[in-house]
Amino acid sequence: MSRQWVGFAVFAVVMLAVPAVPFIPDYWVTLLAFVGVSSLVALGLVLLTGVGGMTSFGQAAFVGFGAYATALLSTSYGWSPWPTLLVSIAVTAVAALVIGLVTVRLKGHFLPLGTIAWGISFYYLFGNLQFIGAYDGIQGVPPLSIFGTELLSGRAFYPVIWVIVLAAIALTLNLLDSRVGRAIRALRSGAAAAESVGVNIWTAKLAVFVYAAVLAGIAGWLYAHFQRAVTPGAFGLNAGIEYLLMAVVGGAGHVYGAVLGAGIVTILKDLLQDWLPLVFGQGGNYEGIVFGILLVALLQGARTGFWPLLASLFPKPGARRILDAEPLGHEGAGTDNPLLEVREARKTFGGLVAVNDVSFQVKPGEIVGLIGPNGAGKSTTFNLVTGVTRLTAGQIVFRSQTITGLAPARVARRRIARTFQHVKLSPAMTVLDNVAIGAHLRTRAGFFSGMLALDRTEERRIFSEAARQLQRVGLADRMHIEAGALSLGEQRLAEIARALCLDPVLLLLDEPAAGLRHGEKQALATLIETLRDDGMSVLLVEHDMDFVMRLTNHIVVLDFGSKIAEGSPQEVRQNPAVIEAYLGADL
Ligand code: ADP
Ligand code: MG
Repeated sequence: MSRQWVGFAVFAVVMLAVPAVPFIPDYWVTLLAFVGVSSLVALGLVLLTGVGGMTSFGQAAFVGFGAYATALLSTSYGWSPWPTLLVSIAVTAVAALVIGLVTVRLKGHFLPLGTIAWGISFYYLFGNLQFIGAYDGIQGVPPLSIFGTELLSGRAFYPVIWVIVLAAIALTLNLLDSRVGRAIRALRSGAAAAESVGVNIWTAKLAVFVYAAVLAGIAGWLYAHFQRAVTPGAFGLNAGIEYLLMAVVGGAGHVYGAVLGAGIVTILKDLLQDWLPLVFGQGGNYEGIVFGILLVALLQGARTGFWPLLASLFPKPGARRILDAEPLGHEGAGTDNPLLEVREARKTFGGLVAVNDVSFQVKPGEIVGLIGPNGAGKSTTFNLVTGVTRLTAGQIVFRSQTITGLAPARVARRRIARTFQHVKLSPAMTVLDNVAIGAHLRTRAGFFSGMLALDRTEERRIFSEAARQLQRVGLADRMHIEAGALSLGEQRLAEIARALCLDPVLLLLDEPAAGLRHGEKQALATLIETLRDDGMSVLLVEHDMDFVMRLTNHIVVLDFGSKIAEGSPQEVRQNPAVIEAYLGADL
């Protein structure tokens, strides 16, 4: 058993033992039961906000959907509480799908603002609908019962809550360590890179959004039967801010941070509600003020929250073991001639013509150099080919089919892989995990098989492939460290390994040798030759002329967006226009 699961088992035993300990007062058991309910919501926010980078103030609304669904069915329609759990989940999931479709596409500050907007509107919606009791809410919600015994006390209800919380934690840990989970983890800092290897980032965002909402909906279901009443006040913006505070206090980004944050905020709120009225001399919801200050202070000073502090007391999880596995499927090289055709490609940014009607071809098994001074339009040409930037005019044809206008993830499906001039890795993920994302399109496991750990055979194959590609680029001894700890040169190599995991027909390398030492450059050149000998075609942007001259069969020279020359390395080297514009007197 890995350290992660030993840790989980210890945590589970401790949490489940609480109600059985007679000297823990009822009051505390009940409080910890509420911590459990909030943990579920905070866990969703850890994924959504901490891992996925989407800040939501509106999570309490989803708790409301779950709570009202069961409260309504179990009072007005006489359903027994257990079957309504499925309805609560379904209602929340559908609501989240609809809200998510319009929310997750919002960029920057608009996304949190959007969540505030619907966070507020659902409060008023709940408060104005007569059939759910308007502002009075629904009273007399029946308790849960197990084998005919009604769970009326906090001590009796506690195990139900914590079994669900523990299950959610286990499923979430599995999910994060899966094909879909890696895509989700890349959303925050490596979305462009994930797209370049075929991850559909909208689907990934929507999936986390719905998952987080469903956890909130389950929390709502528990809340309704534990409190035995629901009122809109529990699902408004204030509550939404509290849940977000929990995720931030605990350590957005860490699964256990959700429980820690829910614990800290729930217990603090309880204490503050007792003490603050004494300080202010009259009753009131003063804890809101304290929470507001706390949230701002944390965002200023301690963004990682408290979990990392606590986690440093425990042993670190061991490095992932690379096990022997059947290699992933490998498709043959492309034989279409030409393989890639850039036809009159044009890109303007306002008045600037970054790429000016440029045409060139890459033939199968060829290494083509794309050179030119800084700002010549080389990286923009890469972006045009890979769908990152839309062409103003012209066409990109790959294997006789146009790929003009395709989104990056679609271009990746044609087996075009790339690296970025400005490296795009997720710094907090290991090098191995970053590279494993490259195999996204060669593998299948979806959300649920990831959650239920049904993907383990495929996972082994992914990691043995990722390790093999890392070995090829010379990073075998660095694979278990965080990508952020690599030198810039090593990060470039890691990007090449990730691109190779796609099993590309065409590889686009944007300044791969920048920041490499002499020996490393030689090794990289040898690797690129090996790839070519295996039938791969390469389009190479590089400033190191020795490197370019050694490797390429054909060179295209850009200057101020226009192609000023092309030909064999010999021809280009002697071309007066090229010497004038770029190569200078030293050649
Ligand atoms: P190179 O990779 O050859 O150094 P680039 O393709 O990065 O050059 O840039 C070509 C020109 O296009 C530069 O003048 C650059 O400032 C401009 N440019 C590139 N991307 C953008 C953008 N997103 N918006 C505006 N101008 C851009
Ligand atoms: Mg560039």
